[in-house]
Amino acid sequence: MVTIPEVSMGSTGLVVPSLGMGMAVYPLTSSETMKSAILHAIQLGYRHFDTAAIYRSQHPLGEAIKEAQRLGFIKSRDELFITSKLWCSEAHHGCVLPALKKTLQILQLEYLDLYLIHCPAILKLEGYELPMGFKSIWESMEKSQKLGLTRFIGVSNFCYRKLEELLVDVKIPPAINQVEMNPVWQQKKLREFCKEKGIHITAYSPLGAKGTLWGTNRAMECEVLKQIAEAKRKTVAQVCLRWVYEQGMSIIVKSLNKERLKENLEIFDWMLSQEELQKIDGISQQKRSSGLEEFISEENPYKSLDELCDGETS
Ligand code: NAP
Repeated sequence: MVTIPEVSMGSTGLVVPSLGMGMAVYPLTSSETMKSAILHAIQLGYRHFDTAAIYRSQHPLGEAIKEAQRLGFIKSRDELFITSKLWCSEAHHGCVLPALKKTLQILQLEYLDLYLIHCPAILKLEGYELPMGFKSIWESMEKSQKLGLTRFIGVSNFCYRKLEELLVDVKIPPAINQVEMNPVWQQKKLREFCKEKGIHITAYSPLGAKGTLWGTNRAMECEVLKQIAEAKRKTVAQVCLRWVYEQGMSIIVKSLNKERLKENLEIFDWMLSQEELQKIDGISQQKRSSGLEEFISEENPYKSLDELCDGETS
């Protein structure tokens, strides 16, 4: 079993396993398949699991956690770091606590380790006005932490201007911002900003989400990464994951495949050289654009990808 290193954020008390298993599964598969992959991952050493209300994977994750305790793979749920997310249609004052309580009920847990606002876009809900600021939503997030329903609160897909706006009026700052990050979308500006503010970044789509509705093959087919992988006798996926790890970020990577779950863990006992890091630094940058269309429309606060992403798309 691999012992996955942890990242500590002294300022907030956050300790998070550097690598976790993503639970946004595309195409959607059966609960049994997901549960069995999660149990296998726990046996391999995974302790960090990332789900969301919208993923339809909360139920199998909850079932797998119970089963892992029954089988003795873990002694207690406290050994795990469990993240879930508030979906945009519930990002309204008055909806946050009920949404979190429903998530806990589906997961069969008493608390989460981390609860995130899934996206700064707010989808229209009958009876609510748009656009709406983050202030009242964040107050409900703070309340959920104070009530002990989640150990930490954070955001996801927040670019620096939206983070700046949120930070103006918070009592508990976000512990984590979970964003797309990989060698072809390195997020240098956002990383600097979050470092300055003491917000830890968790990287999602570290392989560019190859093979999903929202991803691209750009990372996995990148010539620079292929050359480095060949020279090091590693896979391109491992080079992507190692690069994110060396930037000090935690990583969420999705695979339900036994071999790839194992392969993705084998990144902690070797290093990229300075020369390799420099080559990766020079890769041309491009944010994914698919999967974001539903947040951009005349009805929404964001009318273009640039507005949603604070102009940071390449
Ligand atoms: P990803 O982890 O970059 O890529 C997943 C894809 O890569 C899957 O098709 C997977 O297929 C394949 N894969 C995994 N390991 C591989 C390897 N070693 N070699 C070759 N292919 C490999 O993308 P992601 O799923 O978008 O991101 C990971 C997680 O981050 C998600 O599951 C979710 O939990 C989270 N996420 C969050 C947000 C957000 O808005 N907060 C958005 C996207 C993702 P197999 O399963 O067949 O191995």
